[in-house]
Amino acid sequence: MGLPNPRTHPTSCGAPQGTDDAGRAWRICDPSSFLSDSYRQSLNERLIQLERDSHASAIKAGAACGTTGPKGAELAVAIVGSLSDAGTGNVNQVSRQVFNQWGIGHEGCNNGVLLFLAINDRKSSIKTGSGAQALVNDRMASAVLKGDQLKRKLRDADYDAAVEHAVSILEGPLASYSAPFEYSFIGYYGITIACALCVLTGVSYIVYRQEQDRKHNAERKAEFERKLANLHSALDARKKSDNGANPPCAICLEPMPDATFETSEVENGLEILSCGHCFHADCIQEWLSRNQSCPVCRRANPRCSGKYQHEAGGNSTRNHEESYWMFARSRLFEDYSDVPGVERAASRVEQTHWEDQDLSRIYYEEVSTMEREAAEREVELEAQRANDDNWGGGNCDSGGGADGDW
Ligand SMILES: [Zn+2]
Ligand SMILES: [Zn+2]
Repeated sequence: MGLPNPRTHPTSCGAPQGTDDAGRAWRICDPSSFLSDSYRQSLNERLIQLERDSHASAIKAGAACGTTGPKGAELAVAIVGSLSDAGTGNVNQVSRQVFNQWGIGHEGCNNGVLLFLAINDRKSSIKTGSGAQALVNDRMASAVLKGDQLKRKLRDADYDAAVEHAVSILEGPLASYSAPFEYSFIGYYGITIACALCVLTGVSYIVYRQEQDRKHNAERKAEFERKLANLHSALDARKKSDNGANPPCAICLEPMPDATFETSEVENGLEILSCGHCFHADCIQEWLSRNQSCPVCRRANPRCSGKYQHEAGGNSTRNHEESYWMFARSRLFEDYSDVPGVERAASRVEQTHWEDQDLSRIYYEEVSTMEREAAEREVELEAQRANDDNWGGGNCDSGGGADGDW
């Protein structure tokens, strides 16, 4: 078993009849012809040119390895139907077997790279010899295999385009072969440290922003729930005809202190309007700067304007009626529409009679519905991701070495 070596058995690998066995002119093994004939041929020419370019760059860079002097990197391509056509085991094991059987790369340099696809198993792999890892590291190999572009082309069964995409990424660093980075402290560690710092700064900033957003959202949610509870206690008090309990300010839904308004319409940080509705002085000041009427009953120009003449007087008429409830509720829901569940709860409560509205129950129901929906979405996404990984559950590692010229 095993895949024929295109170097020594080109025609079994899909090369045109008459390709010179001794000329070692073939780099691709595609026995089932997943690639089109014309693309296979042009790709092969490119891979051979790549070796020449890489060799020239290696000489320029003085990248000698072993006892052989500078040698260019080599890229080979294997495409099979099933993994079992090429070896035994999983994609990692099989592609490594192919890599080692072919012996990709130069002796002593171990600078070969293999792009491996098992079409029916939907598995992909890039194997690199240790000498090629300075050019194509595991992270890059993984990025190629896990990238959306490659996966999409593979899913579309456009194998010419898929291979072209992967090769076009890999050939850049291989063709411009340069001395392994370890030889240059500045080049390697300098760049690494600079990159690490950039990434670290970026990541910290993102984490910081996310944390700020999370905090802000949690605060908004807590604030909303506290005010919702205030509104509920007001309704409960009303149902029990507990006039001693002050309802919260309809504008901000924060509690209001006691006030009798016997001598002035402004007392204790509160202001009472001529209609008898009272609010925090700051809240109603802000409201009346933009609206000309009482928020609860809509009486026009409702201010007592210095001479206090509210008929019923004092606390007794404060805010215990439908209009108070309706205004306070819709204002609360509007102000906190950014809190998850609030908008959905708002559209539900509009249908019911104001006295029957159990806002808290409706809101918390919506919150748990949303959480359940989010959990379901997460499960779906997870399933999708598991599916995605079938293509290019890509396995890139040090591959094992290349012994012997290929
Ligand atoms: Zn207020
Ligand atoms: Zn009013």
